[in-house]
Amino acid sequence: MIIAIDGHSACGKSTLAKDLAKELGITHIDSGAMYRAVTLYFRKRNIFPNDLEGIRKNLPGLEISIVPGETCTVMLNGDVVTESIRASDINDWVSDYAKIPEIRKKLVELQRSMAKRGSVVMDGRDIGSVVFPNATIKFFLTADIRTRTNRRLAELRAKGIPAAYEAVKANLIRRDQIDSNREDSPLIQCEDAIVIDNSKLDVADQQDVALRYIAERTQIG
Ligand code: C5P
Repeated sequence: MIIAIDGHSACGKSTLAKDLAKELGITHIDSGAMYRAVTLYFRKRNIFPNDLEGIRKNLPGLEISIVPGETCTVMLNGDVVTESIRASDINDWVSDYAKIPEIRKKLVELQRSMAKRGSVVMDGRDIGSVVFPNATIKFFLTADIRTRTNRRLAELRAKGIPAAYEAVKANLIRRDQIDSNREDSPLIQCEDAIVIDNSKLDVADQQDVALRYIAERTQIG
C-alpha cells in the first residue's frame, strides 16, 4: 500500500503521515526532509542553486538515507542531520534547490526504491502526481496561511529556533509560490486526491478523517 500526502508548506503533512504510519504499522518517508538534506549538502559546500555545473559535479557524492522510526532519522553522507535540516537557512534555500531537475531525478529514484521494501506513507509536493501516480490513496492537505504560520512558529520555538511571525509567513508564501510554479513536478492538486482542509481540525480529528477515507478505499482499518 502506498499513501501519498501532498500539500502546501506547513499544513501538517508530516504530522499526518507519521500518525498514519504508526496506526497502520507502515513506514513513513518524509520526502521534504530529503530535499532539505540536499540543501544542507550544497550550502555546506557553498554551491548555489544557479551553479548548475557545481551541482552536477557534486551530486554523485551525495548520499541520503532515511531511517524510519518514531522520528524519521535523516542521514547525509553518514551524519545524522535530522535537526540541522530544520534551520531557517535551509527554509530559505530549499525550494531553490528543489527546482533543479537533476536533484529531483536523484531523489525520486531513491523514494521509489524505498517503497519497494514495503508499504509506505510518503509526504511531499509531487508524491501523488509524479513519484507514485498509482498510489493506493492520495491526500491533498491544505490550511489557511495564518494557521500554517502559527503552527510552524510553534514548532520552531519548541526547538529553540528564534522566529518571527512575519518572517515565517513570508517564507511559507515564497516556498509555496516557487513549489507551485516550477517547471519540473510543480505542486498540484491531483484530480483523484482527497482534499482535507485542516484549518479547524486538530491532529486527532485529522487522523480520524484520513483513516476513514483509507478504510473506505481499502476495505480495511
Ligand atoms: O515538506 P517540507 O516543507 O519539509 O519540504 C521542504 C521543501 O522541499 C519544499 O518547500 C519543496 O521545495 C521541497 N519538496 C519538493 N518535493 C517534495 C518534497 C519537498 O520539492 N516531494
